[in-house]
Amino acid sequence: MPAGRYAPSPTGRLHVGNLRTAMLAWLAARASGRPFLLRIEDLDRVRAGSEDSQLAELTALGLDWDAPAVRQSERTDLYDAAVAALRTAHGPDAVYECFCSRKDIAQASSAPNGPGRLPGQAPTPLRPPGFYPGTCRTLTEAQREQRRAVRPAALRLNAALVAGLPEGGHPEARAHDLLTGEVTGLVDDMVLRRNDGAYAYNLAVVADDLAQGVDQVVRGDDLLDSTPRQTWLAAVLCAARDEPAPRTEHLHVPLVVNGQGRRLAKRDGAVTLEDLSGVEDVREADPARLEAIRDALLRSAGLPAGPLPAAVPAFAAALEAGALPREPWVFDAAAFA
Ligand code: GLU
Repeated sequence: MPAGRYAPSPTGRLHVGNLRTAMLAWLAARASGRPFLLRIEDLDRVRAGSEDSQLAELTALGLDWDAPAVRQSERTDLYDAAVAALRTAHGPDAVYECFCSRKDIAQASSAPNGPGRLPGQAPTPLRPPGFYPGTCRTLTEAQREQRRAVRPAALRLNAALVAGLPEGGHPEARAHDLLTGEVTGLVDDMVLRRNDGAYAYNLAVVADDLAQGVDQVVRGDDLLDSTPRQTWLAAVLCAARDEPAPRTEHLHVPLVVNGQGRRLAKRDGAVTLEDLSGVEDVREADPARLEAIRDALLRSAGLPAGPLPAAVPAFAAALEAGALPREPWVFDAAAFA
């Protein structure tokens, strides 16, 4: 079944920026008649108790969801199966061991004739920092054996092989965002599993969205750059399993910034529901206070104040008219006073 979702990482309390994105994701799902799902992205950086407090914060704001929240830490079988499907469809070389550290990658990418660029080949403009130059792609088994003794391997997907391009080529991926329009990017050999054994964000998100039937992704626009590669990986995974790829609707919401134009953070003061309502546990907050916060968040997106279900038609109309805010929202504590 098609669905929308919110996928928080349980790293602490949600702040007003996260809550605003969650609220817009909920409104988008409701406006399109999709069920709304929650997924806890707890593959790393987990802070004890955060999942519980985040679910309470979302509930306090008026969000509900249509199935019990799932946790990525309990879905390893799904990610194993995704990697296995890629290997089955494209052969054992489709997924290879990588022993590079971040520093190795930065150095190799900046070398004038590093492994990322063949002699005589022009630099490619769409390569973001950290773009993998392919260092470990062609290691021999003996070289791998040597490196395994020094450092555990991450697993990377050989994008050129999977896309049927010549060795070292980079597929160009596209996605469409309802606010930004067309987004394109080159796909490098992305990490599928990190060298600490945890599955990587891109693989887990794509495998989960496919398994959960998610075809509407609303999230912060800091993830816009990941969207072409995730769309590409979803298509590759679906093809490997002989399934049709979903036509996913993306809506990347501008982030919330502080008065200096920097991404809002806990150090910017009272930014969580608990701070703003003066309680330790949001379940004990004054309901009128929570409603006032919800209303400030709705207004910040140009939507009418009031219970969330009543804002669904206004959200649908704003989306249709291209009237949702495209600029970062500047957090102003006074709006919540
Ligand atoms: N877990 C990610 C975050 O909290 C969001 C991932 C996604 O929405 O795709 O930033």
